[in-house]
Amino acid sequence: MLQQRLNDRQCTRVMFMNAHCFNVVRENPYYATALRRADMLLPDGSGVALAAKAKGRRFVANLNGTDLLPALFASLRGTRQRVFLLGGAEGVSEDVAAAISRSWPHIEVVGTHSGYFKDYASRNIVNTINRSGADIVLVAMGVPRQELWIDRYANSIDAPLVFAVGGLFDFMAE
Ligand code: UDP
Repeated sequence: MLQQRLNDRQCTRVMFMNAHCFNVVRENPYYATALRRADMLLPDGSGVALAAKAKGRRFVANLNGTDLLPALFASLRGTRQRVFLLGGAEGVSEDVAAAISRSWPHIEVVGTHSGYFKDYASRNIVNTINRSGADIVLVAMGVPRQELWIDRYANSIDAPLVFAVGGLFDFMAE
């Protein structure tokens, strides 16, 4: 499905929701709106699985960013894709870029930007992302900042797939 939307260049905001996110939703209505407007909202962790079970529902899979992104990259072998990494402390995204090119040589990291910037810099960052020609943008700035940023700017971003990936960069940079 993600591959299809990538091929069709259909704007797709992907977000994840774990038990902690429920607490943030109650405190932050803007975050709740951002989640509602996501094109895909995926269940992350046993907390939400248990809550679903209590309601007599079951998720097909537990899908956090650390599982989904490697699986997506692997599934895109045989194609060439450009990725932009936004988030994390200074220097982290460069380590992630190196890790990506080692594991998935068909995925080219075409740009990186740390996740510590003032809001007024956002427009410039969007322009940088668009100039990079990225197909996929990974935004790792923690909950709820990353979701609020995506909700505000995804429509101005040319890349079809935009993911809120939380701690993925720290995990990949290890
Ligand atoms: N981060 C960032 N900008 C911020 C706050 C956090 O880039 O203003 C980064 C932080 O360096 C870390 C990631 O966002 O790499 C958030 O990780 P965390 O595990 O806290 O994510 P969450 O549990 O909120 O999904």
